[in-house]
Amino acid sequence: MTNSDNNTKSPESQENGTTSTKESNTEEKKEAWGFDLYPERRSTFKPTVSNILLGREGKEGIEKIKCEKNVYECVKNSPIVKTMMAALKSSGCPIDIRRHISCEVCDYSVSGGYDPEMNQIVVCQNVCTKKSMVQGVLAHEMIHMFDYCRNELNFKNMEHLACTEIRAANLTHCSFMSAWSQGDASWTKIKQAHQDCVKTKALYSVLAVRQIGKAEAVDIIEKVFPKCYADMEPIGRRMRRNSEDMFRAYRDASYYGYE
Ligand SMILES: [Zn+2]
Repeated sequence: MTNSDNNTKSPESQENGTTSTKESNTEEKKEAWGFDLYPERRSTFKPTVSNILLGREGKEGIEKIKCEKNVYECVKNSPIVKTMMAALKSSGCPIDIRRHISCEVCDYSVSGGYDPEMNQIVVCQNVCTKKSMVQGVLAHEMIHMFDYCRNELNFKNMEHLACTEIRAANLTHCSFMSAWSQGDASWTKIKQAHQDCVKTKALYSVLAVRQIGKAEAVDIIEKVFPKCYADMEPIGRRMRRNSEDMFRAYRDASYYGYE
């Protein structure tokens, strides 16, 4: 989501769950859509002299090159990213990495975002310093991009937003949970843990970008959860780390008409 007047970016909170859910007051209303989280989007980002001297900023150029290199490697080699790109292409929304993926400096509370107005994925170069993190952001944001392409998603509609966040958490983030691979956990427990992961992750994503109450956000997520959790397109199965699922999904993609 994103943009200016009706800025509607959908930022992803970092895994540590430190989302920037600020107190809502009128002064910050303009930022209620997560607009402040992406300073480069409104050109307010300027390294300050004091920050350069402290070594905190001023290295954006190096970070950007590193980030773009990671993006390129994911696009070339990551099965899940390749699967999503094939799905987007066959849905009529092909990705040109130079046009649709942008490495930028962001607020440290987010790792990436999707800007539907520009149809661009933002990778936070100052946060996603590892290839695995870049892959996670790309896969997650490509789910939003896919939903926007396929469903004409309205990111200002809370139910739409909750739904696409549930899908992104379900198909990417929560599939990497270690609980999946713990052999001693019962299937029922794993299933419950996975659903809890999806709800929690979706909740933080929604709260990071909308200044609404937690209780209200939980209600909306619960309402749309059954339908959105069951919607496995375009990956067809949840990804599991250290399993062949990623590769299988990529291999199967051609059967779904994504190649
Ligand atoms: Zn998201």
